[in-house]
Amino acid sequence: MEKHFFCGQPAPGYDAYVKAMVLNRLGEALRLEHRDNPQPGAGQVLLRIKACAVCRTDLHLVDGELPDIHTPIVPGHEVIGEVVACGDGVDMSSGTRLGVPWLGGSCGTCTYCKNGQENLCDDAKFTGYHLDGGYADHMVADHRYCFPIADRYSDTEAAPLMCAGLIGYRSLVMTGDAKSLGIYGFGAAAHIVAQVARYQGRHVYAFTRPGDTRSQTFARELGAVWAGDTHEGAPQKLDAAIIFAPAGELVPQALRAVRKGGIVVCGGIHMSDIPQFPYEILWGEKQLRSVANLTRRDAEEFLALAPEVPIKTRVQTFAVEQANQALGLLRTGQIDGAAVLVP
Ligand SMILES: [Zn+2]
Ligand SMILES: [Zn+2]
Repeated sequence: MEKHFFCGQPAPGYDAYVKAMVLNRLGEALRLEHRDNPQPGAGQVLLRIKACAVCRTDLHLVDGELPDIHTPIVPGHEVIGEVVACGDGVDMSSGTRLGVPWLGGSCGTCTYCKNGQENLCDDAKFTGYHLDGGYADHMVADHRYCFPIADRYSDTEAAPLMCAGLIGYRSLVMTGDAKSLGIYGFGAAAHIVAQVARYQGRHVYAFTRPGDTRSQTFARELGAVWAGDTHEGAPQKLDAAIIFAPAGELVPQALRAVRKGGIVVCGGIHMSDIPQFPYEILWGEKQLRSVANLTRRDAEEFLALAPEVPIKTRVQTFAVEQANQALGLLRTGQIDGAAVLVP
């Protein structure tokens, strides 16, 4: 019924409250709460959430491993929703499907923003970190940071594209034209990146937790030419490697695995300390870098590329009320592909 109004405030009789899984204190389980429905402010849309994927960053948030977390906060930054109302200055039809990524806002005026590096903006606002996110049935978002999603994807299939896909894609771009590519940690991001890499004619070498034969099989199914344990050496020197697992001890391993001039990209927002390592494994003009957040340009490029590959996501769905369970399974490496919450 409320599907057929256009911009403006929600129609009378619209759901009076929002169901949300809320982080009230760091280290505690999320708690189901019912809150007043948010009203879209200027430039914002109110979205009815259809799906929200669970990212490792959400675990780092719950565990208090990110700086300056302000609670209470609703996690979730891989959101697919449909517009149900618009704030001032937004002209979008009800029912328009949008994806909401991690970057929820940036200042637009700083040197970073002006130079195409809004991902590094000091005043950037991130969804599910500074702004209430998608572990809920409704949310508001700045429409300038939302993206249309190709019709070929269902809501649950599309959700992991919004971070695992996007940050994974940015990480892949940072490896340049590397032909042989190591991927450390074969979770949600890796399962998407592997498909893009293969589409681009690269060879993927997948490194998983020791003994995780299930993920190794999954990696081979997605076209990896080799899959093995992280402590195994690669069968040949690699042109580049991306580390998605938040384990600092993988950095020296990856540096050893790449050839002279090779690139090692750390794709996660948090990592345990990197152990001391001898300079000789960095020597030979190897590069070590991180990837931070995303720009809207990354989103435009990647979301256009996804249906061309075509990327297929493997998802395991949970009711949004089961968010704690989904996070627990992610923590212990028991999710193939991505966990997705559905309200
Ligand atoms: Zn994420
Ligand atoms: Zn800025």
